[in-house]
Amino acid sequence: MKVFKFGGASVKDAAGVMNLHRILSLFSGNSILVVVSAMGKSTNKLELVVQAWYTGKLPDAVEHIEELRFYHQELIRGLDLQHTEILLLKKTTDVFFDELRSMVSLPTQAYYNQIYDQIVAYGELISTHIISGYLTGKNVQNRWLDARDFVVTNDTFRDARVNWSRTESNIHKLVDNEQLKDGINVTQGFIGRAEEGRLTTTLGREGSDFSASIFAYCLGAEDVTIWKDVPGVLNADPKLFPFAEKIDELSYEEAVEMTYYGASVIHPKTIKPLQNKGIKLYVRSFLKPELSGTVIHEINEWRNFPPCIIVKKNQMLVSFASRDFSFVAEESLSLIFGELYKLGIKAHISQNSAISFRICVDEDPFKVQPFIEAVSSHFDVTTEGGLSLWTLRHQSEKLERGLISGKTVLLEQRSKDAVQYVLR
Ligand code: ASP
Ligand code: MG
Repeated sequence: MKVFKFGGASVKDAAGVMNLHRILSLFSGNSILVVVSAMGKSTNKLELVVQAWYTGKLPDAVEHIEELRFYHQELIRGLDLQHTEILLLKKTTDVFFDELRSMVSLPTQAYYNQIYDQIVAYGELISTHIISGYLTGKNVQNRWLDARDFVVTNDTFRDARVNWSRTESNIHKLVDNEQLKDGINVTQGFIGRAEEGRLTTTLGREGSDFSASIFAYCLGAEDVTIWKDVPGVLNADPKLFPFAEKIDELSYEEAVEMTYYGASVIHPKTIKPLQNKGIKLYVRSFLKPELSGTVIHEINEWRNFPPCIIVKKNQMLVSFASRDFSFVAEESLSLIFGELYKLGIKAHISQNSAISFRICVDEDPFKVQPFIEAVSSHFDVTTEGGLSLWTLRHQSEKLERGLISGKTVLLEQRSKDAVQYVLR
């Protein structure tokens, strides 16, 4: 079995859905699990539904739902199906929007993150319903699977952790019962179900790549392909650096490092499960599926990887100084990291001296403010925002000098293969 992941951009309109069919037909004869995200920007729109509902603005919530209904109905209308098939697909898709409407007509009972997952998951349920229906209309036999029936998670809503052993055993059961079998299978990325309470959960924004990787791991799939709007993994963002070029081949380690520091082409959690089972990951263009893209796999010998630049914007440097001239050492660091962990803040870099400590984090006031409040009784905390974090891998001195010239370096950290800068 192969696993194909299609993101929202690849199925944002009727042409995208028809293109997905074309790509599958290039692989006819293969068994494929097709993992799909919500269409276009549906997830963002569903977030607006949640916000409106949560703040008691029912008319706004309804308006957003109706806009989403219209968008999907128009998409269906553009598909090259028989008129009766279009009508039927519209009608069956409407059921999801009716469900959303009746959900928001009741007062919200639960806390925000929980509600969020119950609503936002509809994006993937709807997209896969339409795609499965369309493929059927084109005589591609396929099975629609509800990912919540096999992806078991904890109940950390919006950032649920996967229970690997239960998920794996569920997937094996599906295969044994022939619910997941040779041919084409269609399921959702991003969503799962909590083992306790049985509510819908999500794996965090952009989590569909990770879903594809979960399925591939549990199935022992042959390979995974992420179909993107770029030709593969590039060594820099072409919007920022005109010299950006596609990398043909990467090791798992290299790919993990790149994605961890913000190369946004693949979700960082995607790689490790594939590496553990030696499953190849391809990143290819859905616009030019005949091109080979990038392959990420085991590379044992030494390679001269091209220099690679990852820029993460909207960064903030948070500095801590001890109040009493005691050292900022293990005890205070454990306090700082404890609060970071509680608030789900990732320290992209940290650096300490005897009496001070600095971290670079995403500039997210909803997280950073409570964090500062929590630690400010222990330290003098100062912040500077509006910064960017640059990670250069396999850098050359010349490239490095060129890149940072004219910018102020606030923090620098260097290892054998990489250098990182926080720049103003
Ligand atoms: N639809 C979800 C999101 O936009 C998941 C994904 O696209 O991977 O975050
Ligand atoms: Mg998406």
